[in-house]
Amino acid sequence: MKSKRKIRIETLAVHAGHAIDPATGAVSPPIHLSTTFERDAEGGYPHGYVYARSANPTRHALEQGLAALEGGQDAAAFGSGLAASSAILQALAPGDHVIAPIDVYHGMTKLLREVFVRWGLDVSFVDMTNIDEIYKTVRPRTKLFWLETPSNPQLKITDIARIAEAAHAAGAICVSDNTWAPVVQRPLELGADLVVHSTTKYLGGHSDVTGGAVIWKTEIGIANRVREIQGMTGAVPSPFDCWLVHRGMQTLPWRMRAHSENALKIAIWLSDHPRVETVHYPGLASHAGHEIAARQMNAFSGMLSFEVKGGREAALGVAAKTAIFIRATSLGGVESLIEHRASIKGEDPRTPQGLLRLSIGLEHPDDLIEDLAQALS
Ligand SMILES: *Cc1c(COP(=O)(O)O)cnc(C)c1O
Repeated sequence: MKSKRKIRIETLAVHAGHAIDPATGAVSPPIHLSTTFERDAEGGYPHGYVYARSANPTRHALEQGLAALEGGQDAAAFGSGLAASSAILQALAPGDHVIAPIDVYHGMTKLLREVFVRWGLDVSFVDMTNIDEIYKTVRPRTKLFWLETPSNPQLKITDIARIAEAAHAAGAICVSDNTWAPVVQRPLELGADLVVHSTTKYLGGHSDVTGGAVIWKTEIGIANRVREIQGMTGAVPSPFDCWLVHRGMQTLPWRMRAHSENALKIAIWLSDHPRVETVHYPGLASHAGHEIAARQMNAFSGMLSFEVKGGREAALGVAAKTAIFIRATSLGGVESLIEHRASIKGEDPRTPQGLLRLSIGLEHPDDLIEDLAQALS
């Protein structure tokens, strides 16, 4: 893009990291499968690439796109969201202390407890909505505050600016997992130092690629270390996976708008249903985190959950009857998904048995409402 004007996010998403291929004029970028790159007669690397694990053109293009979209300086792409998170944790040293949400993504709990605590990290899990508790948890070696908002599966809202402030006051850095709300929430602008994504979800957007990314605001030490770890440990995405995520990103702002619009309609409809106990959606004025969400998000994304009266059996019965909603885990794709979280292996035992989590897709909202109506009847 040659324009110097401030580019709006929809335009950025279409163009960031995408350049016309100089060799052929191709508008859609080629997928560079080459693992190795030619040296010149003097032994240099005229195009800047040496070996594909360290860097390759297709990944580089994706990283530029990711950084532009989050408003960061640069990004590192990984083979999964958890590989991206691991790289950040690997940048710490044994004895360093991490503060993480008690309801953090369950794969992250497992990663912290079963891998990184064994390697010497000290981890405290806290209620991220309780700022006093967070300040009390800080120790001399607290190096990292991890936050994830909205949370899974009860859509709790964490105040990103306040947590970033607490992290900086403790001399620590703030990482925000923005998987559930790309584009509609911009943690780097709110004070976070790093953003992590599972690009498997909304960024890819079509349930057909696994990936992750770390995006940083400035070249602080930990960002440089994440870049080094990406090349040294090699948990990198394939060129084809990079290409898929990059393509998915082009429609992300418009998809997020439609996911959010559909989810709000469904949340409002569910709130009035006699068989529904509670609806967890930050776009509802009745939601405990609504005020903060309205301040730090410009739309409320496509994830919601609700509790069916009658607990586990009733909830499983509803999920069994949907015809458009697909019973599956994950989120962020074009198709709507329904999931009984409490029966997932490794899920937090505090997840209510009557809870169903919905990833609202891009179908017509009336069809989704009619599907839920018949499933709840
Ligand atoms: C899915 C998810 C992850 C993990 O990403 P993978 O791509 O599955 O490794 C991390 N955080 C959140 C919030 C997620 O939803």
